[in-house]
Amino acid sequence: MHYPLRRGELFNLVAVFHSNRYEEGWNVFGDPHELHERFADAVGPVRELLGKIETWKMWVLCDREPVKNWSQGRVTLLGDAAHPMLQYLAQGACMAIEDAAVLGAALERANGDFVAAFQDYQRVRYLRTGRVQLTARLYGDIYHASGVARELRNQMFQSGTESAGFAGLKWLYQGVDPKTAFA
Ligand SMILES: Cc1cc2nc3c(=O)[nH]c(=O)nc-3n(C[C@H](O)[C@H](O)[C@H](O)COP(=O)(O)OP(=O)(O)OC[C@H]3O[C@@H](n4cnc5c(N)ncnc54)[C@H](O)[C@@H]3O)c2cc1C
Repeated sequence: MHYPLRRGELFNLVAVFHSNRYEEGWNVFGDPHELHERFADAVGPVRELLGKIETWKMWVLCDREPVKNWSQGRVTLLGDAAHPMLQYLAQGACMAIEDAAVLGAALERANGDFVAAFQDYQRVRYLRTGRVQLTARLYGDIYHASGVARELRNQMFQSGTESAGFAGLKWLYQGVDPKTAFA
C-alpha cells in the first residue's frame, strides 16, 4: 500500500509479510534485505518501488479474539487495549476515536454513575468493534490468498463493480452517532 503524506512531502509505503523476527515497539527498524527477499517474486513495478526506500520501520501485527467485556467497576478500556485489530481495514485509530465519542456521550447521560456509564459504553461498542476486528482478519486472508483461493479472489474482484464494493462497506464508513447510540 502506498500514499502521499504531508501535502506530498513524504511518501508512505507499507509492505506486509511474515517474518521470523519478533520485536515489539514503535521504533523498531526493518531489515531491507529481508524485505527484498520476501518480495523477490513480486512483479517488476512493486520491486522497483520497494528499491526506492532506504529505511523501513517495522511493526509486529497483533490482534485478539473479540471480547464483550472490557470494563470492571470504575475502570474501562478504549481503542487497541479493548479491541486490537489487524491493519487491513485501517480502522484501529478510527475505532479508538469512535470509542471516545461514545464514551463521552455515555458519561454525559450517566449523572456521575461511572460504573453504569462504562457498561453502557461497551454494550454499544462491542459488536461494531468485534465486526471490524473479524472483517479485518478476513480481508487479510483475502489479500494474502494463495493457490485456488487466490484465483477465485481475482475472478470475483474482476467481475464485481466498484459500487458493490463500497456498498459492502457502508456499515463501516457510515460511522456512529453518539447522540442516538443509546436509543
Ligand atoms: C503502521 C501502522 C499504521 C496504522 N494505520 C492506521 C490507519 O491508517 N488508520 C487507523 O485508523 N489506524 C491505523 N493504525 C492503528 C492505530 O495506530 C492504533 O489502532 C491506534 O494508535 C490505537 O490507539 P490507542 O490510543 O488505543 O493506543 P496507542 O496509540 O497505542 O496509545 C497507547 C498509549 O499508551 C502509552 N502507554 C502504554 N503503557 C503505558 C503505561 N504503563 N503508562 C503510561 N502510558 C502508557 C503508549 O506509549 C501509547 O502512547 C496503524 C497502526 C500502525 C502500527
